[in-house]
Order: sequence, then structure tokens, then C-alpha cells
Amino acid sequence: MVGALVGKISRWALDFALPPRCAGCGTIVADVHSFCPDCWKGVEFLGDSGCSTCGIPLQATEQATCGACLARAPRIARTRAAVAYGDLARGLAIRLKYGRKVAIARTMARYMAPLVRSDDEPILVPVPLHRSRLWQRGFNQSALVARELARTTGLRADPYLLKRVKRTPALKGMSLRQRRKLVAGAFKVKPEADLQGRTIVLVDDVLTTGSTANACARVLQQAGAGRVELVSWARVIKPMQLS
Ligand SMILES: [Zn+2]
Ligand SMILES: [Zn+2]
Repeated sequence: MVGALVGKISRWALDFALPPRCAGCGTIVADVHSFCPDCWKGVEFLGDSGCSTCGIPLQATEQATCGACLARAPRIARTRAAVAYGDLARGLAIRLKYGRKVAIARTMARYMAPLVRSDDEPILVPVPLHRSRLWQRGFNQSALVARELARTTGLRADPYLLKRVKRTPALKGMSLRQRRKLVAGAFKVKPEADLQGRTIVLVDDVLTTGSTANACARVLQQAGAGRVELVSWARVIKPMQLS
């Protein structure tokens, strides 16, 4: 008990002694888990803007929901990302992925938390890695973010609810069709999970086409889940979509 107390005090002393640094460039800032004014200017915060369903920036002719979502409701009922994928967003994602930086996960969670709706007490579920990749890297970066997001929102995170049973190659440069084919059958829900009617919020670091998240949503719904949403740190947005 004394040991735990000493640990707490020394952690507090460390927090106190080290001034908070910008998550982008490392200069000293006033507030923990934030950005300096220069980095702040370089980040495009997406927040709750865009299509009410898929979150893609809306065209001038569209109102709350984009034409594509109106024509065919996507499997994921609501997709949100904190920032648009750019230099700074990528830098943070890479440092998290290869450095197990809890402080980075905390910074991401800080900007993702306002995008999580907690009215129906969703379970936060990170997009899983295949065990071979988990073994190489030692941790799942999305699980780190989900844990910090759970701390911030008070919601429950379950990093073991979904399992990646098929190792998929990097999807970069592949067409949507190829991606869908590769991730089909890649995920499984743990057999003892009781998801009947539950809302699930998938947590990911970087969202590109959404085919991976879609495959996750599919098995969750097959296992009885109700609504599935997705909150990610960054989202790749094509320049043509930013008008
Ligand atoms: Zn900075
Ligand atoms: Zn949409």
C-alpha cells in the first residue's frame, strides 16, 4: 500500500515537474495533451461536421445526410473522425503505432471523446490486429486509444470482443472491391459475448475506405448487436471532397 502511494506521488511529481509538450512538435505548451498554435493551424478538425451518417464533407446541394447514404443506408450508422489525415495526424498515428506512447493515445482520445455519444451506453471496441501482428508489435494501437477513450468517457471498452482470425495484407493501393474481398471473414466475435441490441462504437486510429470497419460491423450485427458506430482519430479525405 505504501508502495502504491509512493508510486502515485512520484508520478504526480513527474507530471508536475515536466511541462506539457505539444503533441505535434514537442514545444512546451500550457495545457496537457494539446497542440501549440503553429501545429494547431496545420490540423483540420472534422469533429461532428459533414454527413450525419458517414461524416464525409457535404456538397452544397446536400443537407444533413449525403446522397450516397440516402440512397443506401451504410452498415455503420454513424462515422466520425477527430481530424483529417495530414502530416500531423499521420505523425501521431505513426508514433503511437511503433512507440506504444500512452500520451499520444491520450491526446487522440481527448479529441475523439466529444464524438462518442453515450446515451445508450455503447461498448467501445477497438479494431483488432491479427495475433501474428500483435506478436510483432506487442500491442494494438487502437486498443490503447479505446482504453484512453473509456477513461475519458466513463464507458466500457472491450478489447477482446472482436478477434482478427485472418491475417490480411496491407490494403494500401487496393480497390474497394479488392479490400472487401480480403477482409471478408477476417473477424469473429468472441462466442460468450452477449450483444443483443447493444450499441457498439468501433475505435480505430486511421480510417481510409472503411472496408475493415465494415467487416467488423457485419460480424457484430450477426452476433446480435444493434447500432454500430465508428470513431477514429484521423480520416483520409480526398482533396476533391474538401470544398
Ligand atoms: Zn507544435
Ligand atoms: Zn453520408
